Amino acid sequence: MTPPAAGPAGTPDTRDAETGSDAPLDFIRTIVAADVAAQKHGGRVATRFPPEPNGYLHIGHAKSICLNFGVASEYGGTCNMRFDDTNPTTEEVEYVDAIQADVRWLGFDWGDRLYYASDYFEQLYGYAVRLIEQGRAYVDDLDAEAIREYRGTLTAPGRESPHRDRSAADNLDLFGRMRAGEFPDGSKVLRAKIDMASGNMNLRDPTLYRIRRAAHHRTGATWCVYPMYDFTHALSDAIEQITHSLCTLEFEDHRPLYDWVVREADAPSRPQQIEFARLNLSYTVLSKRKLLRLVADGHVSGWDDPRMPTLVGMRRRGYPPGAIRVFCDRIGMAKRENVVDVAALEHAVREELNRTSPRVMAVLRPLKVVIENYPEGQVEELDVINNPEDAEAGTRKVPFSRVLYLDRADFHEDPPKKFFRLAPDREVRLRCAYFVTCVGVVKDEQGEVVELRCTYDPATRGGSAPDGRKVKATLHWVSAEHALPAVVRQYERLFVDEHPGESREFLEALNPDSLEVIDTCQVEPSVAGAIVGTRYQFERLGYFCVDPESTGEQLVFNRTVSLRDAWAKIARATKMKTGG
Ligand code: ATP
Ligand code: MG
Repeated sequence: MTPPAAGPAGTPDTRDAETGSDAPLDFIRTIVAADVAAQKHGGRVATRFPPEPNGYLHIGHAKSICLNFGVASEYGGTCNMRFDDTNPTTEEVEYVDAIQADVRWLGFDWGDRLYYASDYFEQLYGYAVRLIEQGRAYVDDLDAEAIREYRGTLTAPGRESPHRDRSAADNLDLFGRMRAGEFPDGSKVLRAKIDMASGNMNLRDPTLYRIRRAAHHRTGATWCVYPMYDFTHALSDAIEQITHSLCTLEFEDHRPLYDWVVREADAPSRPQQIEFARLNLSYTVLSKRKLLRLVADGHVSGWDDPRMPTLVGMRRRGYPPGAIRVFCDRIGMAKRENVVDVAALEHAVREELNRTSPRVMAVLRPLKVVIENYPEGQVEELDVINNPEDAEAGTRKVPFSRVLYLDRADFHEDPPKKFFRLAPDREVRLRCAYFVTCVGVVKDEQGEVVELRCTYDPATRGGSAPDGRKVKATLHWVSAEHALPAVVRQYERLFVDEHPGESREFLEALNPDSLEVIDTCQVEPSVAGAIVGTRYQFERLGYFCVDPESTGEQLVFNRTVSLRDAWAKIARATKMKTGG
């Protein structure tokens, strides 16, 4: 079947539009398609993305966002944005705002369907009362430790609490007084009355409410009892008439409880929970607890450090949101946990940037070059191609003059065998400019090369020789007088271990060389005034993005990715689909 291109979720059909994917439906879309065909839920599709506002979103969340918004869009449904904000102590408004900005940046829109689980606190309380009235929940006086002890183990059944058989009237009275603040924190809980001998530990009378005197970011001090995750999540889904509640595999064992809650509370709808494998990436940590640790301990500059796998970090680094969507689509949906090679993400980023980013010339470590036979004071505006991958991108003017900068790495006084770039008496091409020959080398007192003397061939303007002679290298360059100073931050992977945290403490696997700051960069003048977030390919160097710390005097660039694409090679070798 062909799903509709864009539904009321107002999102692009990312699956097909961007990847041209005609792959068979994944197991989740297969279920959804069958439900729609069978008119289950009246043929309706309603999903939700339910982050807990206790940290910034990361690339793993992007997978969930693309799935939930994608499925809704493809089947003409809706996707709600819902904050699962039941834990008052770890949640902050900063995260609520950042999460919304991130989802929008990724390209999705929830319209007016923004919800908070905390908005349901009163309703949830009502469902708890109903469970008590029906003998399905009870107030327990056991403390946390005793509850754990009574719970049993995977091999031994649990024991029933001595308070399990309180009358409904007693339970209602006690629960009301819990809410009224009559009891200290931790002294009582409300528990579901299910089965202390169940093989599924989640069904051994799980806690539904606890007493907690903590201010909540939305409800303030209104409540001193807070509902637990499993209870809240299931009922929030049911209240919002969610049809397919898509979550990660660790909730598989919670599904019987999810179903119990919506059934026994006689909730207004019966959503279906379906679990999929969470995204794991090599050389990356994706646990919020670990990411928070990196920020709190100062191993990175913040949640938006360009080395972080957070969406704010990736945005600052220059990853285009479309590339992240393509990546999420390509990795697909699995029912088993696996680890995706981070090179596949970098590949998707490179692919998009190769198509879309204008080329400019920048020199990281300048080596001064004087063109001896070029007239003093003369400046030529040369036409340089903006993007060979995009015929419509046209050309720009780049000034050429007598004094230029080349990258130090492009010169060798005593070149090794396979070094074809500039060397004494050797001729090379300057991109879109002229052929130049190195005729002299100036050194300082330490013997360090500080300047090259070259000559140019005026007949090679534009970069080709009328006599057909060839050169083995084409170098990028900038005109010294016209170039703009810039700082470049180059990044390597944040971790040196493929699976950080597996064989040693994850912090021990931090890469000490993950950030290199180069403050000598000189960029061609066409980038003057570039706004934050603008992406370029620096010819022969990689893709770079303007950082928010740029000032009027000095641009700061983050290297988004290098040009070298290990993944394309792997994919070709194994004939994997790279979408290219
Ligand atoms: P963490 O375990 O790191 O704290 P979380 O799962 O608790 O993350 P939530 O804010 O609860 O974070 O996640 C919101 C949604 O995103 C959930 O539906 C969750 O299943 C999904 N999600 C979180 N991490 C991943 C991941 N790595 N891959 C796919 N989906 C994820
Ligand atoms: Mg969670």
